[in-house]
Amino acid sequence: MRAAVVRSFKEPLVIEERPIPDPGPGQIRVRIETSGVCHTDIHAAHGDWPVKPTLPLVPGHEGVGLVDALGAGVDRITVGQRVAIPWLGGADGSCELCVKGHETFCQHPTYTGYTVDGGYRDYSIANADYVGIVPEGVDPLDAAPLTCAGVTTYAAVKAAQAGPSDLVGIVGIGGLGHLGLQYAKIAGAFTVAIDVEEPKLELAKLLGADHVINAATHDVVEEMRKLGGADAIVSTAATPRPLRAAFDSLRPTGRLVLVGLPADNVFQLPIFETVLRGIHVIGSLVGTREDLNEVFELHAGGRTRVELETRRLEQINEAFDEVLSGSVPGRLVLDLR
Ligand code: NAD
Ligand code: ZN
Repeated sequence: MRAAVVRSFKEPLVIEERPIPDPGPGQIRVRIETSGVCHTDIHAAHGDWPVKPTLPLVPGHEGVGLVDALGAGVDRITVGQRVAIPWLGGADGSCELCVKGHETFCQHPTYTGYTVDGGYRDYSIANADYVGIVPEGVDPLDAAPLTCAGVTTYAAVKAAQAGPSDLVGIVGIGGLGHLGLQYAKIAGAFTVAIDVEEPKLELAKLLGADHVINAATHDVVEEMRKLGGADAIVSTAATPRPLRAAFDSLRPTGRLVLVGLPADNVFQLPIFETVLRGIHVIGSLVGTREDLNEVFELHAGGRTRVELETRRLEQINEAFDEVLSGSVPGRLVLDLR
């Protein structure tokens, strides 16, 4: 089978031939059909984050495909079922965080395409208890971006406590943000899409954004003030640059939800304004298995639209360049069929 492999943080990925892996106890093997390209995969391949993956690594945590083999003891999943293998590839189910219902913050997690090999390959191995089941009526191309970009922003919009009549800003209308915008609308909020690329803002308008701000040509704080200030802002940009403006755009008691994970890991938070204005700064990491079920349910019900273009596995390095250039509308999805 083919696999796209990171061999060095400084080199392009290499397409390798590898033996088809066998599932161990509690695991399944998935014939991958589609695999989304998340900006996180680029951070992984570049070694951008404080905790780096062990190389060689097969990235990818939006792998979707058909189950073709079961390991011992698997009874949740059947052969032929379509599943999605998310970032949270596994959790121990027994630590304090899991028991409290916060499985995404498990103390002993498996991160697909980071701590174990992910979906940039023809066959992938997954923990049967942690895969999403893709319902009939969700196209495998759409299912891929929903598996990370969708579930992450769905959970982030919940964390933002976005409610009817709230004004919610989404910073970065890329793979994550174009879905986050739709979840904020589903929550009943008025929405402001913020990006530095005009085509992304055009897409946001098509998806129903109430307002758009081009942060490259306009003063975001001033534009937000004209709208009365934001009740919540979800930042998905892979840079800390827009965070201070987002903070300054919030109304008192506003929520700033950090989702983007830039290589440049720091932004300055003014203490006085945070305290006197009762601002909440919230970190949000992917979403739970139940969040993913809900994301698929919304999509099957026709309430979200996934904007995507397909590429072949062999085009992975060009695909990374396209994402970094900011030219991609929505998500790139590798079609391995
Ligand atoms: P993407 O490249 O598709 O989207 C990023 C968007 O931000 C682009 O549209 C880009 O034009 C825009 N942008 C860049 N600079 C900006 C600025 N100064 N102001 C406003 N917008 C700006 O990336 P993605 O796949 O959506 O991922 C975004 C980030 O989220 C990455 O850092 C990724 O690692 C992270 N991420 C976090 C989680 C989580 O659980 N917290 C999950 C998935 C991805
Ligand atoms: Zn992701």
